[in-house]
Amino acid sequence: MSMDSQEHLPEELANGVDNNGLPVNFIQTIINEDLKAGKNNSRVHTRFPPEPNGYLHIGHAKSICLNFGLASANGGKCNLRFDDTNPSKEEVEYVDSIQADVKWLGFDWEGRMFYASDYFEPLYQFAIQLIEQGKAYVCDLSAEEIRQYRGTLTEPGKDSPYRERSIEENLDLFKRMKAGEFPDGSRVLRAKIDMSSPNLNMRDPVLYRIQNSHHHRTGDKWCIYPMYDYAHPLSDALESITHSVCTLEFSDHRPLYDWAIDNVDYGYEKYGRPQQIEFARLNLSYTVMSKRKLRALVEQNYVRGWDDPRMPTISGLRRRGYTPASIRDFCDRIGVARRNSMVDIALLEHCIREDLNINAMRIMAVLKPLKVVITNYPQDQTEWLETENNPENPAMGTRLLPFSREIYIEQDDFMEDPPKKFFRLRPGGEVRLKSAYIISLHEVIKDETGAITELHCQYDPDSKSGGATAGRKVKGTLHWVSVAHAVPAEVRLYEHLFTRENPDEEEEGKSFVDYLNSGSMQILTSCMVEPSGADLQGESRYQFLRQGYFCPDPDSKPGAPVFNRIVGLRDSWSKIKHQG
Ligand code: ATP
Ligand code: MG
Repeated sequence: MSMDSQEHLPEELANGVDNNGLPVNFIQTIINEDLKAGKNNSRVHTRFPPEPNGYLHIGHAKSICLNFGLASANGGKCNLRFDDTNPSKEEVEYVDSIQADVKWLGFDWEGRMFYASDYFEPLYQFAIQLIEQGKAYVCDLSAEEIRQYRGTLTEPGKDSPYRERSIEENLDLFKRMKAGEFPDGSRVLRAKIDMSSPNLNMRDPVLYRIQNSHHHRTGDKWCIYPMYDYAHPLSDALESITHSVCTLEFSDHRPLYDWAIDNVDYGYEKYGRPQQIEFARLNLSYTVMSKRKLRALVEQNYVRGWDDPRMPTISGLRRRGYTPASIRDFCDRIGVARRNSMVDIALLEHCIREDLNINAMRIMAVLKPLKVVITNYPQDQTEWLETENNPENPAMGTRLLPFSREIYIEQDDFMEDPPKKFFRLRPGGEVRLKSAYIISLHEVIKDETGAITELHCQYDPDSKSGGATAGRKVKGTLHWVSVAHAVPAEVRLYEHLFTRENPDEEEEGKSFVDYLNSGSMQILTSCMVEPSGADLQGESRYQFLRQGYFCPDPDSKPGAPVFNRIVGLRDSWSKIKHQG
C-alpha cells in the first residue's frame, strides 16, 4: 500500500556490497545511504523490542542478531526495550528470561534496557498535543461498532458520530478516561486521519483504550493504555532510534508510524527521526513460532516446558545443546530479505554440526547395551588404551580409555542371522573395537525364553595399536564401553516436534496440535557411557561415536547423567546442497 523506496527496490539491487566487496543485506544498503546523506547526524541506533508475553524463539534470534549486528557493524548502539503496553498478558518471568536469552546469544545492550511503560507519561502528553491540534478525538463507539464503521478493503469507512467533538470536550473526556471515570471498553481515543484511506490502518486508528488492570511495572497508576501502533514509533523517537527494524506484516502500518512521528512534537532537534524498515520473518520447517501456539504447547502439557529441548525457544535450544555461535551462524546464513519464505530446519542442524564437529570431544556411549565377555582376556585386568579426543581437531589431544574382560556393545551391532552386507558382529565374524582389539564371536548366550543375554568372544592380543597384527583389516569397527567402568545414563533422543512441514497450514477441522509428532522424544534409560562422559562440568558437549552429538541435561544427578541428543551425525542439509 505504501509506495516508497523500500518496496520499489528489487531484492537483487537492494543487496549491495560493503567496503571489502562482500555482500550486505538491503538494510545495510539503506544505512549506507543514510550515513552518506548525514541523516540523524550519521548515527545508527537500533532496538530489539520484545513483548514480554512469552519466551524468545529462534525467530527472535534473527531479529536480535540483525539489530545488534547492524549496530555493531556501523559503530552504533542497540537498545533492549520491553514493549509492555499490554498489562494483562505480561509477566516478570518473561522479562527475566528475555534478558538471559539475549545475553546468552552473546549480545550486550550496554545498560540501555528500557520499557515502553517508562514512556506512559510522555505518551499521554503527546496524546494531549494531538487532541489540541484537532488530530485525535474520544470515541464512544463499541469495539464492534468501530469495526463496522471501518469499512473494508473495497468500501470506504464511515465517520464516527463522535468525530467532530470539540477540542475542549475531547480534552475533558480524555482526562477523565485517565482519571478512571469510565469502565473498560466504554471509550477510546482515536487518531483523526481519514476514514476513506485505502489503508485500513489509517482509518482513525485507536490510540488509547481503557483497561482497569494491574501493570507489572506501573501498578495501578494507569487505567488507559496506548496501542502498539502509537506507542512504538514514539518510544523509538524518545530513544533516538534511527532504524526501527520490524517484520513485514508491519509494512501497512508504516504510514501510521510516520503519522505519529510527524504529528507529535517529541523533540526532533534532540532525538532525530526514526525510520521503520521491514524484513521477512523467519519461518522454520516442522516448527511453529507464534507465541500463542508455543504457549499453548506449554500450558496444555504437550511439551515439558518453555525450555523443553524440542521447543524452538532460545531456552529450549540452549537446553538441547545448541551453542550461541551456532545460532548466530544460522542467522548469518539465512540472511535478510523482503520476501517471506520457509527455512529448512536441516540448516539449523547443519550449523550446530559444523560447530561441534570441530569442538566436541568424542566419547564412547552405548545406548542399547549388549554384554560381551572376552573369554580369553585375563580376569581382573584393566588396560588404559590411548584414544583421540577429536580426529578433526588434534589440538584437543588424547585420553586413556579403560578396557577389560567384559564390555558393552550396541544391540544393533550384532545380528545372529544377518544379511550379506552386515559388517558388524555375527556368529563366527570379526570386528575391531575402536581404539582397542579385534574380537571374534564364538558363542551366543540366551536365557530360557530364547532372549540373547550376552556374547562370548575372543580377542586377538596382538591387534591393538602397536601390536603385530594391528594393521589387520576387518570390515566393521564398533564403539564399546567397559562394564566395570561404565556410567549408567539416561539418553533422550529427539525428532521434529511436528510431522507436517508447515504445521501452521491447518487443514479443515484440524489444529496445529494434530500435527504433533508422537515420537518426538524417545527416552532410553539403560545407556552406558565411558567414565569421561560423567564429567558434567560446564556446558560440555560430546560426540558419542556413531550416535550423534549430545549434551548433559539439567535433570542430571551426580553419578546419574541424563543426556540430550542435539543432532544425529547424518547431515541432510549438506546432502541437499551437494545434489542441488
Ligand atoms: P506475537 O507472536 O506475540 O505476535 P512477535 O512474534 O511479534 O509476537 P515480539 O515480542 O513482538 O513477538 O517480537 C519482538 C521482535 O522480534 C519484533 O521486532 C518482531 O518483529 C521480531 N520477530 C518476532 N518473530 C520473528 C520471526 N519469526 N522472525 C524474525 N523476527 C521476528
Ligand atoms: Mg509483536
